[in-house]
Amino acid sequence: MIDHNDTALAKRAQLVVPGGMYGHMNARSFSATLPQYMASGDGCRITDTDGNTYLDFMCGWGPVVLGHRNPVVQQAVTEQLAKGDCLNGAAPVMVELAELLVDTVAHADWAMLAKNGTDATTACVTIARAATGRRKVLVAHGAYHGAVPWCTPVTAGVTREDRAHLDYFEYNDLDSLRGAVDRAGDDLAAVIVCPFRHDVHRDQELADPLFATGLRELCDRTGAALILDDVRCGFRLDLAGSWEPLGVRPDLSAWSKAIANGYALAAVTGTDAMREAAGSIYATGSFWFSAVSMAAALATIRELRDTDAMQRMVDSGHRLRDGLAAQARAHGFEVVQTGPVQMPLLRFAGDDDFSQTRLWCDEAGARGVYLHPYHNWFLSAAHTAADIDDALDRTDGAFAALARR
Ligand code: PMP
Repeated sequence: MIDHNDTALAKRAQLVVPGGMYGHMNARSFSATLPQYMASGDGCRITDTDGNTYLDFMCGWGPVVLGHRNPVVQQAVTEQLAKGDCLNGAAPVMVELAELLVDTVAHADWAMLAKNGTDATTACVTIARAATGRRKVLVAHGAYHGAVPWCTPVTAGVTREDRAHLDYFEYNDLDSLRGAVDRAGDDLAAVIVCPFRHDVHRDQELADPLFATGLRELCDRTGAALILDDVRCGFRLDLAGSWEPLGVRPDLSAWSKAIANGYALAAVTGTDAMREAAGSIYATGSFWFSAVSMAAALATIRELRDTDAMQRMVDSGHRLRDGLAAQARAHGFEVVQTGPVQMPLLRFAGDDDFSQTRLWCDEAGARGVYLHPYHNWFLSAAHTAADIDDALDRTDGAFAALARR
């Protein structure tokens, strides 16, 4: 009989999976108490292979925006599955989804679909280069844009040539951006930025509106494309685009994660000025036209648009943040909570190496709350006030345990 518990699976994986597990999914790299393998999810809860259930504050690392197995999305998926998924041409749902994206995303005159966030950011860079005939792309220090040689944070297997035309600036620092723009000169194709600074291993930092407008002006002046990497924030902060509240519209946006409530889909949206270039690049993939994920995206975006789902995430996010702040105070800890409440992060003050924060997350994990010590968390519309209170009961125990140590 096959033993499905976490330790047994991890042991088997050591023999057939490099390193046992790779990338951000390696649970041992950020937690001493959370399991590696998950058996199922329901709403805002996930259950591991040993039968333990967790209040989920990572939401599949972002994609799950309406809750695990949301019935409206599941229905759309079931209906499309009954017709087919991978056909010789795109299904009608592709056009419907592109129309919905153009209607929903403020800057979008067109949309292209792909599978992963990296597909979308990479396509944006390629389109910008095709549109401008230039090479240089500016990237913020420490920002994550994907897992291929031009942008991976780990340089094993990457050559200097892979990044020959990248240059770097400090997020929220216009002077540093101006310096990079000057260095690129008349070869500047694009600047790629995230809606806020959500790099791992640091407090999150919202975009300074002056930085965003200054960046837009610099792109307008130089003819470079402004690429907004909305892969992590998109469809969680503002359906029209995460910089819409700042009044700054990108030329190109990359989307993935929350777009289809956990089904594999990414999108690039762009303005008319980028349309011809977008049509000129070679963009495709074996599964880029799979209709089921597109049906899931249609259902997800409509649900986010037509219900109070976005507001519920904000309300639950505030409840969590206020509750954690009160608990920390009561237990004599000073904590720093950063980022939008729908994508929160907590760090113990002065805990520069995240060791104390990690111990607290371990204690929370042992009590059935799935948190991350140094990557932003995610809320979903499935988190109710009662769920947040349930989580807070458990995190109170985690603070108490830390106080005893
Ligand atoms: N950009 C950002 C901001 C991301 O957070 C991610 C994924 N964490 C990516 C790009 C890459 O997306 P994917 O992992 O789907 O390729």
